[in-house]
Formats: sequence, structure tokens, C-alpha cells
Amino acid sequence: REDVTEVPDDARTRHRDLSEELDRYAFAYYVRDEPLVSDGQYDELMAGLKAVEAAHPALVTPDSPSQKVNGGFTATFAPVQHLERMQSLDNAFSSDELSAWAARVEREGAAGADYLCELKVDGVAVAIVYEKGRLVRAATRGDGTTGEDVTANVRTMEGVPQQLTGNDVPELLEVRGEIYFPVAAFADVNAGMVEQGKAPFANPRNAAAGSLRQKDPRVTASRPLRLVVHGLGAHRGLEVGRQSAVYFRLRDLGLPVSGRSEVVDDLSGVWAFIERYREQRHSVEHEIDGVVVKVDQYTLQRRLGSTSRAPRWAIAFKYPPEEATTKLLDVRVNV
Ligand code: NAD
Repeated sequence: REDVTEVPDDARTRHRDLSEELDRYAFAYYVRDEPLVSDGQYDELMAGLKAVEAAHPALVTPDSPSQKVNGGFTATFAPVQHLERMQSLDNAFSSDELSAWAARVEREGAAGADYLCELKVDGVAVAIVYEKGRLVRAATRGDGTTGEDVTANVRTMEGVPQQLTGNDVPELLEVRGEIYFPVAAFADVNAGMVEQGKAPFANPRNAAAGSLRQKDPRVTASRPLRLVVHGLGAHRGLEVGRQSAVYFRLRDLGLPVSGRSEVVDDLSGVWAFIERYREQRHSVEHEIDGVVVKVDQYTLQRRLGSTSRAPRWAIAFKYPPEEATTKLLDVRVNV
């Protein structure tokens, strides 16, 4: 195997340049809410970085953008240590990549897995903690270990319970989810921004990030943000067998979960779900950039485990980007 000193200079330079570029774009996107390039362009650069690393594995270090949860936090919000690390997701861009993932799942001890198919909500990832049923904290993902305290802002959101309902409320419950800006309200908010002489948001994802990450929670309260819960973090007093069953439980507790998820038992079922939403992509209340496929059984999830940045038991199948790649470059985005 090649030693790092043996990697040709041009590959090393390309690796450094791509890493720096990706870090810069991630900072603009996650921390400043002012994306400099389109998602498609970002994904292409990331694919370029991974190709260099595949050719020269010695270049892979823990701080490479391909190995870490990309993101960050500002001093505007108090830092929050997540109870459990928040991760990203590995991507598949083709049916071959999806099949390769499923083959690995089977090979690595999860034969007989059922697949939970969900929409990949294009919003902002948050972790919300309930103690004895009471909402005590909400935080952005940040770098996965440390996020930003957005509790006051999340408290203003319709559809996020302050207090869980029903019997048998878990002693501790950390849910992960996505905060999104409903597509139907997007044109209106931008008309309002323009009326106030401000620059419009580039897209609903950007509107969600900009509306959530406000110093003044009253601004957040004036925006129609919504939450969809799609995962669990730390918990005590909750029975967990299958993720799909946990969703029913979370719904009983008053939390918003998607009504569009579906459990299938093989890849052809996954593929049918992907094709259905490729067609119906624009009839969904939020923007989607793909489909997330998860192994449904928690025992199998634990058996598969995680890498430094993503679980091995889930994959995000991304639809091809729809936006014009140059359009975003000219847009100044408001926060
Ligand atoms: P990701 O968006 O590919 O996937 C991980 C995230 O998906 C999770 O953190 C989770 O919050 C979210 N998610 C949505 N629906 C989900 C569901 N049903 N189940 C589980 N998770 C769900 O990875 P990422 O690291 O958050 O971001 C990388 C992506 O962000 C890039 O591929 C690109 O599209 C975009 N990005 C764009 C820019 C830019 O400049 N335009 C910069 C950085 C990142």
C-alpha cells in the first residue's frame, strides 16, 4: 500500500484543494445559511474527492470532508453537547450503488433485514430532548458532537409538542428530525422579503435554515416551520424493536412523523418506492432530495454499526438535482 509520502504531488494538491473548497462551501451552507454553490455542484466535488481518496487511500484522514459530519456552529447560539453523536448519511446515486449497499448489509450480518423507506426531507437536522415528557432542549447538528442551542426558536413552532401526551411517557427521549419550510408557503415568504427590501431565500431548505437560526425567536415564530421526526437518539423507558414501530409510538406521544414511510422486504420494493416518489416529488408538502432506506430492525442496525460519519444500516438515494447549476451563484441569501 502506498505511503502518504509516495502519493504523487498532483493528487496531493487536488486532494487539498477539493478539501478546502468543500470545507468553505459547507461553512457557507451550514453556518452562514448562504450557499455559494448548488447541492449538485457540492455533491460533484465530494465525488471528486472520494475518487482521489479511492486511488490514494493514504490521503484519507479523519478530518477529510469525506470522513466527518460536515457542519459547524456560531457564537450566536450556546453550544450543546449532543447526548449521542448526530451523524450524516452515505449516498447512493444509482441503482448499482444502492444494490452494492444492500449486498453489504446482507453480507455483514443483516440477512433478512426489512427496509424502511422514507422521504429524504430537505431541511435542517435537529435533535430535540424530552425529559419526563417535557421538551427541555433543541439543537442543530453542528459538527455532530456539538450543535447550537435553538430551544427558544423550536418552542415557537407549531406541531412541536412542549409536552408529550399519552400513557407511559419515556423518562428520556431524544428524537432526531428535520425542520422544513412548507413548499406552499415559500413564494409568500419571499414576496414578503422583497417587500421589506431584503434578498429572497434561494430555496425552501435555505428558508428553513434562515428562519430557524434567528437570534430573535419572534422572527422564527412568524415563519411556518414544520418538523418531521425520523430517528431516535438517547432514550430511557422506550421499547425499541423496529424503527417503523417506534414511529407509531412517537406519533402516540404527539410527535410529527411522516405518513409516507413504508416497510418493504426486498430491493424491488425499495426501488418501487423510489420510482413512485420520483414521479410524485412535487406533490409532497416539503422538498425532497431523495429517499432514505434504513434497516428496520434495531438489533440488525446495532450489528451493522456506524463509520465515523454515517450509519452502515442506512443509505440516502439521491435524485438527480433539478436546479440550474449556475442560478444559485448570483443569489444573495438573507438570514
Ligand atoms: P445528507 O443531507 O446527504 O444526509 C444526512 C441528513 O439527512 C441527516 O443529517 C438528516 O438530518 C437528513 N434526513 C432527511 N430526511 C431523513 C430521513 N428520512 N431519515 C434520516 N435522515 C434524514 O448529508 P449532510 O451531511 O447533511 O449534507 C450533505 C448534503 O448537503 C450534500 O449532499 C448537499 O446536497 C448539501 N450541501 C450543500 C452545500 C452547498 O453549498 N450547496 C454545502 C454542504 C452540503
